[in-house]
Amino acid sequence: MCGIVAYAGHRNAASVVLDGLKRLEYRGYDSAGIAVIDERRIKSVRGAGKIIALEQSLKKNKLSGVVGIGHTRWATHGKPSEENAHPHASCKGDIVVVHNGIIENYIDIKKNLLAAGHIFRSETDTEVIAHLVEKHMSLGGGLLEAVRKTISEITGAYAIAVISASQPDCFIAARKDAPLIVGFGEGENFLASDIPAVLPYTKRVAFLEDGDIARVTASGVEFFCGDEKIERDVVVVNWDSVQAQKGNYRHFMLKEIFEQPQAVQDTFRGRLYPEEGIAILDEELARISGMAPSLERVHIVACGTSYHSGLVGKYLFEKFLALPCEVDIASEFRYRNPVLGKNTLVIAITQSGETADTLAGMRLAKAAGVPTLAITNVVGSTASREASASLFTRCGPEIGVASTKAFTGQLTAIYLLLLDWAAKRKALPPEEIKRMALAIWDAPVRISEALKDAAAVEKLAKKFFHAKDFLYLGRNYNYPIALEGALKLKEISYIHAEGYPAGEMKHGPIALIDENMPVMIIATASSTRDKIF
Ligand code: GLU
Repeated sequence: MCGIVAYAGHRNAASVVLDGLKRLEYRGYDSAGIAVIDERRIKSVRGAGKIIALEQSLKKNKLSGVVGIGHTRWATHGKPSEENAHPHASCKGDIVVVHNGIIENYIDIKKNLLAAGHIFRSETDTEVIAHLVEKHMSLGGGLLEAVRKTISEITGAYAIAVISASQPDCFIAARKDAPLIVGFGEGENFLASDIPAVLPYTKRVAFLEDGDIARVTASGVEFFCGDEKIERDVVVVNWDSVQAQKGNYRHFMLKEIFEQPQAVQDTFRGRLYPEEGIAILDEELARISGMAPSLERVHIVACGTSYHSGLVGKYLFEKFLALPCEVDIASEFRYRNPVLGKNTLVIAITQSGETADTLAGMRLAKAAGVPTLAITNVVGSTASREASASLFTRCGPEIGVASTKAFTGQLTAIYLLLLDWAAKRKALPPEEIKRMALAIWDAPVRISEALKDAAAVEKLAKKFFHAKDFLYLGRNYNYPIALEGALKLKEISYIHAEGYPAGEMKHGPIALIDENMPVMIIATASSTRDKIF
C-alpha cells in the first residue's frame, strides 16, 4: 500500500508534499492527490495516473497554504479514477483525509452514514473516515477528538492524515498496521509513510506505533495513545535516499519476500472470519457467487508464477470440493480449442491483470459464454474490468522483477475461494472449514517464523551458487511449489533448474543425478511425505 506525505510549516505545502510523493514513487501507485488549507478553505487536486500528471495539474491550479496532505494510491476498493483518488472529503468539503490500507467494516459504517444523510462521492472504503470525522466534529468535538472517536469505530489497517478547514494550523495522523513516520524540522514538521520522503528536509524522525495518534503543527508534534499523551523517541537516520527506499534490505525482491506475512494478511483482511469458520466474498463475487453450488468444472488460466498458484488451486478444489479443475498455461489454452461445457467457470490468475495471453484466455471463455473470475493484484486492470467478477490479492505493488509476495497472495485468495465454495457447496463439515480458516489466519505468523531462518537459506545459497543445474522435487501441493522454486532459480540466478513431481524421478531424471547435482526436496508434514524418503 502506497504513500502518504503531510506537511505543516512555512513553505508552500503543496510543493513539499509533491516532492515527498515523488520520493515515495518507488512504492508504486495508480493515482495521486494533494490537499492544502488555503485561507480557511480546503483545496485539492487529484487524479488517476502518474505524479507528473498531478504536477501538471498543480501548475494550472496553484495551491497555496502552509499545511497540506498528499497521497499515492494503490487501489483496493474502487478503480483508479479521479473520483476514487485521495484525498477524500466530507459532505461539506471542509474535512479531507488520505489513507493507506483497508477499512474492513466500511460497508456497515457507510450504510449508517448514508441513512443519516451523508453523501458519498467515491467507491472507496476510505471515504467513511472523512464522514465519520465530520459527524463527530458536528457533535462539538475538535479535530483531534473526532479522529480519536473515528479510529475507535473503524477496524482494519490504516495510516491516515486528516485536515480540517476549521483548524488550519495542524493535521492529525493515526496508524494501525500501516507505516507512518514523523519528521522534525525547524519551524516545520512532516509526516510520511517512509523516510525517503522527508530526508531532504530532516534526518530527525520518530516512528508512529500501532494505535498512535499525532497532532502536528509547524511548531511541534504531540503524540497520543487513546486519551493519553505519550512520548516517541526521536531517531537520527544516516541513510541516503536510495538506501532508505529499500529499508534494511539489499534489494526489493528481498524486501518483498519479507513482506509476505503482510501480503497474506491484507488478502484475507475483512474476508475471513475464523471464529465463525467462514470466508465472505459475496459482495466481490456477487456476479458469480450463485454459480458455486452448481459448478461442474473450473478451468484455471495463467502464466509463470500465477500458473503455479493455479496448480495448487487444482489440488485443493479437487481434494476438498470434488470439483474437477484443469489448469492451463494461458498461451496454450488460447490456441488449443479447449472444451468449455456448461456450469463451468474460467479463473484467470494474473498479478498485473495485464498479462496478454491470460487476457486472451479470458476473452476466449467470454466468447464461449463462460463466466470468468480474475484473481489479480491490480484494481482497475484490464483483467478486472473484463472479468465477470474479481478477487483482488491486495499485496501492494511488486517492484522486484520476480514475483514473490504476489504468489503467496494468490494462494491466499485461492484458499478463501475454497472456503467460500466449501460452505456453499456443503462440501466440507463446518468444523473442517473452521479448522482451515484458523490455519489461514495463522499463516502470517508461521511465514514470519519461517523467514527467521533466512540465514540458513543464505548459507545454502553460498554453498550452491556455482551449480550449473538444480532439481526441485515435491509431491501433491508441493509439486507446484517445486515448479515455482525452479522458476525462481532460473529467473534470478540464471541457473538451469527443473521442478519435478518426486514420484517421476525414477522415470528418467534420475539419470542426471550425480554428486554435482543439488536436489531440493520440499517435504512438509503431509500424507505423501513418507513416499518421498
Ligand atoms: N483502500 C484505499 C483505497 O482503495 C486505500 C488504498 C491505498 O492504500 O492506497 O482507496
